[in-house]
Amino acid sequence: MLSNAQNQPLFPSPAGQMKKNSITEDYTVTSQVLGLGINGKVLEIFQKKTGDKYALKMLQDCVKARREVELHWRASSCANIVRIIDVYENLYQGKKCLLIVMECMDGGELFSRIQERGDQAFTEREASDIMKSIGEAIQFLHAINIAHRDVKPENLLYSSKRQNTLLKLTDFGFAKETTSHNSLATPCYTPYYVAPEVLGPEKYDKSCDMWSLGVIMYILLCGFPPFYSDHGLAISPGMKRRIRMGFYEFPYPEWSDVSEEAKELIKTLLKTEPTERMTITEFMNHPWINQSMEVPQTPLHTSRVLKEEKDAWEDIKEEMTSALATMRVDYEQIKIKTIEDSTNPLLTKRRKKTNN
Ligand code: ADP
Repeated sequence: MLSNAQNQPLFPSPAGQMKKNSITEDYTVTSQVLGLGINGKVLEIFQKKTGDKYALKMLQDCVKARREVELHWRASSCANIVRIIDVYENLYQGKKCLLIVMECMDGGELFSRIQERGDQAFTEREASDIMKSIGEAIQFLHAINIAHRDVKPENLLYSSKRQNTLLKLTDFGFAKETTSHNSLATPCYTPYYVAPEVLGPEKYDKSCDMWSLGVIMYILLCGFPPFYSDHGLAISPGMKRRIRMGFYEFPYPEWSDVSEEAKELIKTLLKTEPTERMTITEFMNHPWINQSMEVPQTPLHTSRVLKEEKDAWEDIKEEMTSALATMRVDYEQIKIKTIEDSTNPLLTKRRKKTNN
C-alpha cells in the first residue's frame, strides 16, 4: 500500500474477493488446534500447492462475521497485523461459513515469550520496541478509520520462534469503522463550525485502543496489571470502580528503576476520561516510542513476576477482556447532548436574550 512520510496509508486497501470453491480443494485441513477463541478453534492447515502452513479461523456466516472479515482484510497490508491470505464462503455441516485463511503465527503470545525467558533480563528498551510495534498496528488502523476495540495480550502474536520475529495484532471480532455515515457528519455544504460531538463518537472507539496500549505497557514494565479485581474472574464492582477512578500505582520495588518518562506516558494512556487520552499520533511521536534507542536498558522484574504469577495469568486476561467489553458498552451509551440540555455559555446567553 502507498503510504506518506508518517507511514499513514493514503487509502484503505480494498478487501479481496471471497472464494466460493471448497477450501479442501486448495488446502489440507488438519485437526491440529492452534488456539481457542470465543468463536471456536483456530486450526492448522497446509496449502496443497506449496505445502506451506497456515491458520484457519471458521465463523458462521452472519453480518458480524462479514464485518470482521472485511475490516481485517482491509487492515491486512500492515506489517504488524496478521495477514489474511484467502477467505472462503463454504457450507459446513449444512451451515454457511466464512473460512479465514491467515498466516500462521507460530511464535505464540506476547507475554508467554517474555515469561519463558531465561536468565537474560527483559529491559525497558525492549518494552519500548514492543510498544512501538503494537503502536504501528493501531496507527495504521486509526488512519483508515478502524478502531480494533479488543487489543489485549491473547490477540498479540509472534510470527515465528526465531529471533527476528514480528509481533502482530489479530482478531477483528469487535473492530468498528469509526467514520459515521449519517448526513450530519457528511454534509453536502462546508460548515463553518461543526462541534466534535456532531462528527460522531469515533474518538471513544479509538480511545479504547489507547487504554489497551496503556495496560499492555504497564504489564510489560512490571509483569502485573494496573488494576486488580477483588476476586478475579468476571469483572468485579471493585475493579470497575478502579478503572473508572483511574486508580493504580507504580509500586516499589518493581517500578523503582523504571524511567519517569515511561510512567508519564502510561498516565496519559490510562486517563479515565476517554477524550483526554493521548491519540495514536501523539503516542507514536512520544520520545519513549520514537527514540527507543535512547530508552535506558534497565533490567525489569517483568519476566520473574510473570513466572511467579503464572496461575493468575488466565484471570488477568479475563479481567482485561471484561474491562474492554464494559468499555465498549459504556461508550455506546455515551449520549450526544441535545440543544435543550446544552450548557454552552454562548447558547445560554442567546437563550436569555430570546426570553427577554
Ligand atoms: P476468537 O475471535 O474466537 O477469540 P481469535 O482470532 O482470537 O479467535 O483466535 C483464538 C486463538 O487462536 C488466539 O488466541 C491464538 O492463540 C490462536 N490463533 C489465532 N490466529 C492465529 C494465527 N494466525 N496463527 C496461530 N494461532 C492463531
